[in-house]
Amino acid sequence: MTKKNDWPQQLSPEELAEWRRRFAEANRVNVFCHCRQCDEEWVASRKEACHHCGSLNVEAIACWQFPDG
Ligand SMILES: [Zn+2]
Repeated sequence: MTKKNDWPQQLSPEELAEWRRRFAEANRVNVFCHCRQCDEEWVASRKEACHHCGSLNVEAIACWQFPDG
């Protein structure tokens, strides 16, 4: 058996920056929005007006509120 660590061991500075960027993105974009006006759905960093019809009648659900699976 070889010792293996799940944590990335040999990332170049570029890859590390990319990895951190994705992680930050996942933390930031964590609100699921649903437009009650036109049924458009998207994810954003916070509740915002509908991208599709501009309605403010938007339902916003934090992604962490979704049950697993
Ligand atoms: Zn809409």
